[in-house]
Amino acid sequence: MVEQQVAARGVVDQRVLDAMLTIPRHLFVETALQSHAYGDAALPIGEKQTISQPYMVAVMTAALELQGDERVLEIGTGSGYQTAVLSKLVKRVYSIERIAVLAGRARKILDQLQLSNINIKIGDGTVGWEDQSPFSGILVAAGSPDVPQKYLDQLEIGGKLVLPVGDQKQQTLIRIVRKSEDSFERQQMMGCRFVPLIGEQGW
Ligand code: SAM
Repeated sequence: MVEQQVAARGVVDQRVLDAMLTIPRHLFVETALQSHAYGDAALPIGEKQTISQPYMVAVMTAALELQGDERVLEIGTGSGYQTAVLSKLVKRVYSIERIAVLAGRARKILDQLQLSNINIKIGDGTVGWEDQSPFSGILVAAGSPDVPQKYLDQLEIGGKLVLPVGDQKQQTLIRIVRKSEDSFERQQMMGCRFVPLIGEQGW
């Protein structure tokens, strides 16, 4: 999976590739789907939600240019797979999931894997996690109609935000770097398809 779907498509961040090699993706999907866990696709995880395509996990993670001492915010814990990858790359991961049953399932698997640098909160992630801000990186794993202002506010200077922006069917992956208190550099990365970001600042 890592060699053929991720590295072969140009993800070069060795730390990201190594982190993905260490996380057993099949544990994050139900038993009946485990034989597809290393395929090149998103898969259903129940509650009408999905575990993201491995390549998309890699691209979004690499876009944060993580060095190891960061505190990052993830919106949309889902299965917990992306959370696990992030946990191998940073000091602490703060992850928000609006569906309690998914958050609970993810917590259990992450605990089994003894990944202890993760805080999961159940709630509306469109408002970020103010008491833990600012973050060096914010990764949003659901499609938003626009860039929620709270994410920009909760990004430290030099911090990076990656999120899909568009309609409910198709989005563009956007990367934003906070250059100073009030200036942000915005870059379009690629087309993508995510489930909708539902909440106060989303759909
Ligand atoms: N990256 C995850 C993984 O590897 O399994 C997949 C995330 S899935 C594509 C998107 C998740 O975002 C869903 O679990 C959904 O419930 C969640 N979500 C949608 N809107 C949200 C919100 N406002 N706050 C928190 N989570 C939200």
